[in-house]
Amino acid sequence: MTADPRESPHVRRLLGAYVLDALTVDETGTVTRHLRTCDACAADYVEIAQAASLLALLTEDDLPE
Ligand SMILES: [Zn+2]
Repeated sequence: MTADPRESPHVRRLLGAYVLDALTVDETGTVTRHLRTCDACAADYVEIAQAASLLALLTEDDLPE
């Protein structure tokens, strides 16, 4: 993929991997810069980050039997 902003102005599809710290350094920088300037993606990021942190809190004890 390229970092051409004209090709992909929003970073929504990268946010999941961004939350999980699974992006390359370049991609992480792209997302970080974009979140500073885009309220829509920033709001999505907050939602995804919250969902990810909730999942991380789950333990085997929380799973239904
Ligand atoms: Zn955006």
